[in-house]
Amino acid sequence: MPGVYDVVIIGGGPAGLTAALYTARARFRTLILERLAPGGQMATTEHIENYPGFPLGMNGVDLSLRMLEQAERFGTEVIYDEVERVELAGPIKVIRGQLGSYEGRTVILATGASPRKLGVVGEDKFTGAGVSYCATCDGALYADKRVVVVGGADSAVEEASFLTRFASQVTIIHRRDQFRAAPIIVERALQNPKIQVMYDTVVEAIYGERSVTSVAVRNVKTNTTETVATSGVFIYVGLIPNAGFLAGVLPLDRGGYVLASEHDLSTQEEGVFAAGDVRPKSLRQVATAVGDGALAAAGVERYLSGVIKTER
Ligand code: NAP
Repeated sequence: MPGVYDVVIIGGGPAGLTAALYTARARFRTLILERLAPGGQMATTEHIENYPGFPLGMNGVDLSLRMLEQAERFGTEVIYDEVERVELAGPIKVIRGQLGSYEGRTVILATGASPRKLGVVGEDKFTGAGVSYCATCDGALYADKRVVVVGGADSAVEEASFLTRFASQVTIIHRRDQFRAAPIIVERALQNPKIQVMYDTVVEAIYGERSVTSVAVRNVKTNTTETVATSGVFIYVGLIPNAGFLAGVLPLDRGGYVLASEHDLSTQEEGVFAAGDVRPKSLRQVATAVGDGALAAAGVERYLSGVIKTER
C-alpha cells in the first residue's frame, strides 16, 4: 500500500480533476482513482462550447487531458483502478479497488453518473452492435447510414446534431411533444436538414440480426405503431449516479445520488465530500462540476488544517 494520502479522489472527471488541482497545489498528497480514462462524461462529448475560456469550443478528450496535465503538474498521482468498497468512518479512510487498497485522511467522491438504459427488448443484445450511448465514440461508424436518437433533453438533441456529420439521416424519437433541451441546441438541430423528429413517440423494441436493422415505435397519443429502419440507436434518456458502491455506507437520495451539504459538499461522514454529478444538483455541466471540485477541495483543506469541523 503506497502510504496514507491526504486526499483520495474517486473519479477523474472535471469535478475530481479540479479538486486534485486545488489540493495538490495546496501541497496535500493527492491521489485520483479512475476506473477507465480521465474526463468521465466530458471525454465522451465531441464539442464543448459552454465551458469558458475556449471561444471556439473544445474537444472533450482534449479538455480532459489538459485538466489532467494541470492536476499532475502540481503532483497529483493517478492510479487506474475501479473502486468496489469503501470504509469511510474514522480518521483513516480505506478504499478498496479491484487492483489494490488505498488509504486517505479525506475522500472526495467524484464518480459522476452513467447513461441510463432505455430498458427495451434488444437493447442489451445489440449494445456495441448498433446500440450506443456515446455518439463521440461510435458516430463515425455510421457514415451514410440512418440512425435514431432516443431522448429529448440536451444530450439527445446535441448529439443528434453531431451525428449528422456522419449519418445520412438522424431521427430523434422523443416521448413528448416538446424538447427539454436548451433553445440554442434545439434551434440548431431543427435547422439541420438531416434531422427529423418523431414527437410523442416511444421505442418499444430494437430489432436486428448481427446488428441493428430497425426499431419498433409507438405514438403515445394515437397508439399507432410502426417499424423504423435504422442501423444505429443512440440512447440519451438521462443518467444514473455511479454510487452503487456507497449503498449502506452513506445516505443516498431516492435517485441514488450521494447527499452532501450544499454549503461545503460535506457528507454525513467527517472528512468525506461529494462533488459533481454523483450528488443531487440542479445543473449538470462541466462548469458546475469544476465548481464542485474547487468547493470540495476547500472543504478538505479546512478539515485537514483542523480549522473547522465539516458542517452537517
Ligand atoms: P436528462 O436531462 O435527464 O433528460 C433525459 C431525457 O430522456 C428527457 O428528454 C426525458 O424525457 C427522456 N427520457 C427519460 N426516460 C425516458 C424513457 N424511458 N423513454 C424515453 N425517453 C426518456 O438527460 P441528459 O440529456 O442526458 O442530460 C443530463 C444532464 O447533463 C442534464 O442536466 C443536462 O442539462 C446536462 N447536459 C448539458 C449539456 C449542455 O449544456 N450542452 C449537454 C449534455 C448534457 P422528458 O423530457 O419527457 O422527461
